[in-house]
Amino acid sequence: MDDLYLTFAAQMRARYGEKVYKLPVNLPATCPNRDGTKGTGGCIFCGAKGTGFENLSSAIPVREQLEINKKYIGPKYKAELFIAYFQNFTNTYFPPEVMADYTRQAAEVDGVVELCFATRPDCVGDEILTAIRDAAGDKRVCIELGLQSVNNETLKRIHRGHTVEDYVEAVRRVQSYGMDVGTHLILNLPWDDREHAARAAKLVSDLGIDTVKAHTLYIEKGTELAHMYEAGEIEICSRSEYVSRAADFLEHLRPDVSIQRLASRVPNEDAVFCNWGTGWWKIRDLIETELVIRGSRQGSKWRDE
Ligand code: SF4
Repeated sequence: MDDLYLTFAAQMRARYGEKVYKLPVNLPATCPNRDGTKGTGGCIFCGAKGTGFENLSSAIPVREQLEINKKYIGPKYKAELFIAYFQNFTNTYFPPEVMADYTRQAAEVDGVVELCFATRPDCVGDEILTAIRDAAGDKRVCIELGLQSVNNETLKRIHRGHTVEDYVEAVRRVQSYGMDVGTHLILNLPWDDREHAARAAKLVSDLGIDTVKAHTLYIEKGTELAHMYEAGEIEICSRSEYVSRAADFLEHLRPDVSIQRLASRVPNEDAVFCNWGTGWWKIRDLIETELVIRGSRQGSKWRDE
């Protein structure tokens, strides 16, 4: 819906003149919030599989994973340009020389124009960023940082192991390496409200973030969050409240920040709660309708600030 908000697809078309598709890469990654460095249980919503639902085995070399996925995705979508997307767990939590090797393998694959690494704000130190920048050569790099909430109290409750201030510092460091920054946010964490959604938009706008993913909270079976949900200790806001928060978020967001998603795209077999029992596209449609009803669009309230 390019007239209501800037989609990531439109941002890529403007940059490259054609469609660009993501090729997932699965690294043998863990996370400092799971392995004892920052914490052992992980974030309260983090499941054992992480978020890489469509990934190949991490035992397959990076180059080979990309070639296999390219053979499938390329002809299916008539795509020739790709982003190597390191998605699952914390993809910069490796020694710098290992990180450089993964980066180089991806950068050398024909058709790969960008590399994108999903990670945490506390895993983008200078050594790692230097290794990635040097190994990426002329390929554009995006570091996707999980922030999830702009409310430090909420970050404590979900056991993130970092603060909003840590995120801001990480953004500035990544940008100093000439890399793009993406940000993940969950707009319906039980301790947050519409005000936090608007504040999140203002923060990422002020920081010059390039792209965002807004998620609906996904409660996977067996997680600490699932236990809290089943025990009635938390309440999830209604779908219409989520739609209002997402519309508020878009209105306060700078118009040149691209939107990669407005609801989580995850399988619901393993969930005790997922998207109020509807598809992500239905929620996206409701958010678009809400903007139309309000007569607003991305950035319509950003200009006033
Ligand atoms: S930072 Fe990511 S990988 Fe680590 S525990 Fe949290 S959700 Fe899981």
